[in-house]
Amino acid sequence: MLQVNHITFSYKKTPVLKDVSFEVKSGENLAVIGESGSGKSTLLKVLYGEYDLDQGHIFWKNQEVLGPKYNLVVGYDFMKSVAQEFDLMPFISVSENIGKFLSNFYPEKKQQRIAELLEVVELTEFAHTKVKILSGGQKQRVALARALAKEPEIILLDEPFSHIDNFKKQSLRRSVFKYLKDKNITCIVATHDKEDVLGFADNMIILNNQKVIVNDSPEALYNYPICPLIASFFGEFNVIDNQIVYAHQLKVIAKSSLKAIVLHSYFKGNYYLIEATLNKEKVFFEHDFALNKNESICLKIN
Ligand code: ADP
Ligand code: MG
Repeated sequence: MLQVNHITFSYKKTPVLKDVSFEVKSGENLAVIGESGSGKSTLLKVLYGEYDLDQGHIFWKNQEVLGPKYNLVVGYDFMKSVAQEFDLMPFISVSENIGKFLSNFYPEKKQQRIAELLEVVELTEFAHTKVKILSGGQKQRVALARALAKEPEIILLDEPFSHIDNFKKQSLRRSVFKYLKDKNITCIVATHDKEDVLGFADNMIILNNQKVIVNDSPEALYNYPICPLIASFFGEFNVIDNQIVYAHQLKVIAKSSLKAIVLHSYFKGNYYLIEATLNKEKVFFEHDFALNKNESICLKIN
């Protein structure tokens, strides 16, 4: 289990984390959510032992994670991290990068392991390509595979799919998260993309104003978003009579007291997102077809 106990951390002038506590059980997937600048990357770096804490303690099992003040070399064998900026070796191949830290003692085993990892990150066909000529997304996948190579007990992923295009993203996410679950590798993912969370994370924490404001399952937070920041992570929403209502929970009906005027219809694939005004405030709802501008409609909350 990872235990984060009352940690506080500031860069020289910027306080980032204040009295942050949470736990992650072995094999669990925790998502760290927050707006840009909320401290997600900093939290992962602190968990990795890259910085010294101002206060508090971090433990993996019985081992305290300590910063550079206490460790000549940053990091621990049981933990790997894939940062937003990944430092690969550009002039050697994808395979060589992935195998960089694997022992050469059993060459056959090493090659097997590399092949397995290439499959997880869907780069088999690029095995012998020099990293230098890869795209940003492909490099990110090499960095992932390299972090997994020595099978850490815990892995820290900072927006791991941010550079990967939509064509690949969905299958890659499933492949990587399934691999981590199968191997019982504890995983902490910083992201602002709900697609990285839903269906994968066991729990999520939200960072805001240097604090963890919630720590619960994605289901619980989706169903009971206690503040607009949480709802906004999951999608388009409205606040009607102090109640958070997702766009898909508002329906057009023949008659009601919620009278709105249509402003715009946005094509979203299997639905239209309709922007309208309700009592002079903007509301958003989902609808099967586009509505005409200035059309009067009535809404109900499902
Ligand atoms: P996130 O990953 O959620 O976008 P970061 O952890 O990168 O947030 O940044 C949190 C805050 O710390 C921001 O205000 C950012 O400007 C600041 N910050 C990040 N890295 C450094 C650094 N190396 N030195 C000083 N301030 C930093
Ligand atoms: Mg970041």
